Amino acid sequence: MLLREVEYARPASVQEAVRLLMEHDGARALAGGQTLINVMKARAASPDVLVDLNDLEELKGIDLGTDGRVTIGAMATYSEIMVSAEARARPILGEVCAQIADVQVRNRGTIGGNVCSNDPTNHLPPLMVALEATMHILGQDGERAVPAEEFFLGVYMTAAGPGELLTKVTVPPGKSDGFASVAIGTDGTCIVSAAASVNRTTRIALGCVDAVPVLLQPDSAEEDEVRQAVRGAGLDPPSDVHASADYRRHLAEVLALRAVAQARGRR
Ligand SMILES: Cc1cc2nc3c(=O)[nH]c(=O)nc-3n(C[C@H](O)[C@H](O)[C@H](O)COP(=O)(O)OP(=O)(O)OC[C@H]3O[C@@H](n4cnc5c(N)ncnc54)[C@H](O)[C@@H]3O)c2cc1C
Repeated sequence: MLLREVEYARPASVQEAVRLLMEHDGARALAGGQTLINVMKARAASPDVLVDLNDLEELKGIDLGTDGRVTIGAMATYSEIMVSAEARARPILGEVCAQIADVQVRNRGTIGGNVCSNDPTNHLPPLMVALEATMHILGQDGERAVPAEEFFLGVYMTAAGPGELLTKVTVPPGKSDGFASVAIGTDGTCIVSAAASVNRTTRIALGCVDAVPVLLQPDSAEEDEVRQAVRGAGLDPPSDVHASADYRRHLAEVLALRAVAQARGRR
């Protein structure tokens, strides 16, 4: 389907991008376009102005700090994260990006677009929560840092509000991480996903069982503790054509155990 008529701006600085987003009520940031253009074609969203972020060097690049922290620009693509030596300091980042869709989507799709769309079936929201990532948001009043577990507010809703930009994501050091999912076919979107970090503490984030990732913090990574944490979470996942709520609950437990086992295997 053809797009409805829409204004297009290609700012040269993040300040100009924020100004454009502030000035126009119906403005939306355009990153890789892998979600936004599709929902525009389906008429599920009709922004008046697209503010294209693709010229903004400040939003690109991946750095590794001396403290082991990985900083990923919002416009870093999945393919860039997969091959980045700096991102390899936290290997799960590239491994999960390699599981997203196909090579075309990975070449265009960005970490910023993935988390800002907060589609509950996306791979990166639960991963960011499990890894204790921090999201950096720029708005009219300057930049603020938001922990990933407070960033995701609802389906397609995040702490990056209208007139604001996610500029970068920072991920603390750690190696003992895991990710497990059951997807719709090869390279498909997730039916249920689980990300685990067994580093300083045990953190498990479940995807596709609620509007936002569900964070579990069992006392240990022992199998019984993980099982009890999932069972005690009171999950009330959706039922749809791909899976019943009961099946999603079952998968949540199985995948949490798999993700934790993978993480523990890397200690
Ligand atoms: C065929 C297909 C299969 C897919 N399968 C998967 C999958 O298995 N797993 C998965 O995780 N994803 C999947 N996706 C989605 C894909 O990962 C998208 O790339 C991603 O959801 C959005 O990233 P984007 O860079 O394309 O963002 P865009 O589509 O450009 O933007 C998405 C939203 O985020 C906002 N936004 C973007 N960047 C910023 C920013 N810096 N600050 C504030 N707001 C911003 C935009 O305004 C828009 O509302 C699939 C997509 C397709 C087309």
